[in-house]
Amino acid sequence: MSDHRKLGRELGLFDTDPLIGAGLPYWLPDGATVRHTLEEYIRDAERRAGYRHVYSPVLGKRELYELSGHWSHYSDDMFPPMELGAEQVVLRPSLCPHHAVIYRSHGHSYRELPLRMAELGGMYRSELSGVLGGLTRVRAIQLNDAHIFCTLDQVADEAAAALEMIRRAYEALGITPARYRLSLPGPGGKYVAAPEMWRRSTALLTDVLDRSGLAYEAVEGEAAFYGPKIDVQVADGAGRESTLSTVQIDFHQPERFDLHYIGPDGARHRPVMVHRSIIGSVERAVAHLIEEHGGAFPAWLAPTQLVVLPISEAELPHAEALVRRCVDLGLRAELAGPERGSLGARIREARLVPYQAVVGAREADDGRVALRLRDGRRLDPLPSDEALARIGALVAAYSTELWTPRPSPSGD
Ligand SMILES: [Zn+2]
Repeated sequence: MSDHRKLGRELGLFDTDPLIGAGLPYWLPDGATVRHTLEEYIRDAERRAGYRHVYSPVLGKRELYELSGHWSHYSDDMFPPMELGAEQVVLRPSLCPHHAVIYRSHGHSYRELPLRMAELGGMYRSELSGVLGGLTRVRAIQLNDAHIFCTLDQVADEAAAALEMIRRAYEALGITPARYRLSLPGPGGKYVAAPEMWRRSTALLTDVLDRSGLAYEAVEGEAAFYGPKIDVQVADGAGRESTLSTVQIDFHQPERFDLHYIGPDGARHRPVMVHRSIIGSVERAVAHLIEEHGGAFPAWLAPTQLVVLPISEAELPHAEALVRRCVDLGLRAELAGPERGSLGARIREARLVPYQAVVGAREADDGRVALRLRDGRRLDPLPSDEALARIGALVAAYSTELWTPRPSPSGD
């Protein structure tokens, strides 16, 4: 596996500048395309799973974090507050408090539960400058977050469904988890003191893991301050582990924010919050994807999906028309004309592009295209409509396969 910082720079995905600051990378167009596509995959998966998306601001008053418990349990990781007249505002260290406030902004019936609220939103962490680097240790984080407000009876199913979403996302992204971890509290005053609450949430998560059939390890000292969690760990090339995905059960914040719903009995009941993230922070997820694939992303995620290579100037008009058709079909295609060098040199330059369409005199005449795949396979010339439809179907299905022997049923 290669270092994502080196590859990210070589491939023009992201960079940093001391004037912007350490731990504050910016995304270049190809990196922004990967990020946007990943974010849309997540939103699509969430929409299909019954989540509704919200936007909430990256700032909040100090009182919000005093109420959530972040101020007393998490302030070491937070930026100092900004004085604004008589108020203090804080760059948020998590999205949960905003979502709890949105939930409580109007009344809820048990019929609305589980209520699944999702957001890809910014949050901030005051990491020391010595540990910052690339996309893995950053101060500004885009988090794939969601909170499910539900009854106690619904918690186990919701947590299990979140684990299943994580499994499917890893399949589409070509990621293999290093291990599943049940993260429990450890000694010290970092955790809210409510033994009965910890016992109940730990029992629920243990049950979810046991029923999933996944092998896992219980580790003390890795829980969130408000509750235990299931962490999905990935490893980098040097074997260093980090947490990408997480599923957490929280009885604490519903209590702090006095959340409730009206039950079938007409009385007020307290919902449980399930916090879950499929890919964690977008920065860390992209860093891992760069290293995992060495820059050769699955076709649906690749910044350029298809490069059109006319053999000579004579085929340029035909090649340009092919690029235009790809773009109209929603594919990310580029032209690499003869002014960029010999065909061999252009093919080498496009080595990370999943599909390379070579257009010679014969292809220009009969509307066919000779595809070369990134893995070295060369396909027999195909009618270009068929080739583009098959690529489009694989991309739409978030496939990690570059080609399948027969057109898939959704390909026509
Ligand atoms: Zn949360």
